[in-house]
Amino acid sequence: MLKDSFGRVATDLRVSLTDRCNLRCTYCMPPEGLDWLPKPELLTAEEIARLVGIGVERLGITEVRYTGGEPLLRRELIEIVGHTAALSPRPQVSLTTNGIGLARLAEPLAAAGLDRVNVSLDTIDREIFKRLAHRDRLPDVLKGLEGAAAAGMLPVKVNAVLMRGVNEHEAIPLLEFCLERGYELRFIEQMPLDAQHGWRRENMVTADEILAMLNAHVELTPDDPVERGSAPAELFLIDGGPARVGVIGSVTRPFCGACDRVRLTADGQIRNCLFATEESDLRAAMRSGASDEELAERWLAAVRGKRPGHGIDDPTFLQPARPMSAIGG
Ligand code: SAM
Ligand code: SF4
Repeated sequence: MLKDSFGRVATDLRVSLTDRCNLRCTYCMPPEGLDWLPKPELLTAEEIARLVGIGVERLGITEVRYTGGEPLLRRELIEIVGHTAALSPRPQVSLTTNGIGLARLAEPLAAAGLDRVNVSLDTIDREIFKRLAHRDRLPDVLKGLEGAAAAGMLPVKVNAVLMRGVNEHEAIPLLEFCLERGYELRFIEQMPLDAQHGWRRENMVTADEILAMLNAHVELTPDDPVERGSAPAELFLIDGGPARVGVIGSVTRPFCGACDRVRLTADGQIRNCLFATEESDLRAAMRSGASDEELAERWLAAVRGKRPGHGIDDPTFLQPARPMSAIGG
């Protein structure tokens, strides 16, 4: 088991398949993009399959989520999902995506074994989308959402980040849009993980503010807290349910004490936290001939050293050198 020194057990593996993206969301990367990882540094599909296999079959991983950058840009995605779903014991396989291209890929991905999908959507206003993501791709995202629902990956979940002065007034339109279509919406507080280091606490739209906006419009009742477990979203029934909305207060309501996540970057580094400042290089070990057992040992050691919390409130807090797009959100 991937157990840390505080007794938490990591069972949820987030794998970044690429650091590249076809959007430029302001809270994530600058409009001009970033220096992408050179191809030889990326794990190959075979290397990903090997490491995910070790995680699931030796180390107790029960859920594998593919992310990025934009994971739909990875050409071997269907093959990677298919391999993951064929592992024993079979893990839950999910995807976090901006939805561009999902209209075409949802069916084959579902057929390959993809169980669930989270699509990021911060606004349903095309002009605001262009301003926030620096690309005029809202129609593609909306088609992607429809494709995911049509392929039966239900409930389709929608992730939204609100930015002050940009889309903070979109909370209710987004909620209504999702309710009408049966999508489950989650708001995520903006975290200090942008490549430009532009995050300021005072600009962050907090979980409290989001809940106040929602409460003014619908009646929220906390959903069964037992169900929350290690899931970061606080879930609320809307007007008595069954529809729900979630708020992920990563900064103001941290859930580090119940965290069950571990991350594998596109270049083969294990990170025990989004905010970790150290990584463990499985790619170098693998490419210099390490056995599965040796790789598992390194992975165990990397998780053992996990800190108790992200420490964003500590005066000594340092934003990680890698931005969210290169870690895998
Ligand atoms: N490109 C895919 C997408 O946007 O869904 C997957 C990668 S993206 C890094 C994963 C999630 O992280 C998205 O839901 C995105 O909104 C969120 N995210 C990115 N930067 C963030 C930040 N600074 N704070 C909070 N969430 C962020
Ligand atoms: Fe791309 Fe996702 Fe980052 Fe937006 S949040 S720029 S879609 S990686």
